[in-house]
Amino acid sequence: MVSISSATDIATRTTPLSESVVHPAAARRFAVVLLSGGLDSTTVAAVAKSQGHELLAVTVHYGQTHRREVLAAKAVAQALGVEQRIVDVSFFRDLAWYSALTHPDRFTLPSDRATQQMDADIPITYVPLRNTFFLTLGAALLESQALHAIEVEGTLPEHVQATLFIAANAIDYSGYPDCRPEFYTTAAETLRLGSKLGTQYGIPFGIETPLIALSKADIVRLALAHNAPLAHTWSCYAGGELPCGRCDSCLLRAKGFAEAGIPDPARL
Ligand SMILES: [Zn+2]
Repeated sequence: MVSISSATDIATRTTPLSESVVHPAAARRFAVVLLSGGLDSTTVAAVAKSQGHELLAVTVHYGQTHRREVLAAKAVAQALGVEQRIVDVSFFRDLAWYSALTHPDRFTLPSDRATQQMDADIPITYVPLRNTFFLTLGAALLESQALHAIEVEGTLPEHVQATLFIAANAIDYSGYPDCRPEFYTTAAETLRLGSKLGTQYGIPFGIETPLIALSKADIVRLALAHNAPLAHTWSCYAGGELPCGRCDSCLLRAKGFAEAGIPDPARL
């Protein structure tokens, strides 16, 4: 295995002079946010932006019924001034087929459910291992950014940080297992063990979930505190031109704005 110092020496020797090589001590704080275009991920993107990371947004089109959210994610990234990568993984719909989000023709979208019902079991809007897959996609981009900085630009590994920002929430949510803290704790360890960044350079993947313990109302307040562009966001699971107002996602969003005592800027 190549040691950290020899890898750095090679990178420094073979890289042509550039601004980052002239200042090799400059710390690089790379971050990737998974941005769906909804209230939660838009808030997390605004929080990550405010912390001064070198931030990239990843938006995944996976053949979901609500393509409208990809358009929202574009508008949000633009409003925040964050560089965005939109990736089309529509094939995922054929694999993760057991879901009302990937196959609305086969499964009925739950509607008008009380929050207690949402907590009771994992609903048919759960998409099999979607967050695990998305996390890996975001981490692949993040690792690439960090490795390039180390091996091509000559940044010292000890000056590199890599953080994934995820809008998971375990309070006002639909009971999805991949929104709970224990999933992210073990995912960070899996990424470290399975990556060059973690094993060769000793750089852990940070996974930040700033919303994990917040209510929807708290998320709305956090969004406003960070000037998140909420007017551009889209949360509805249904595929219409306007939010349906009846799916779990619409109901949780409405609950959040009502409890925060603030009108939803996307509905004005
Ligand atoms: Zn809806």
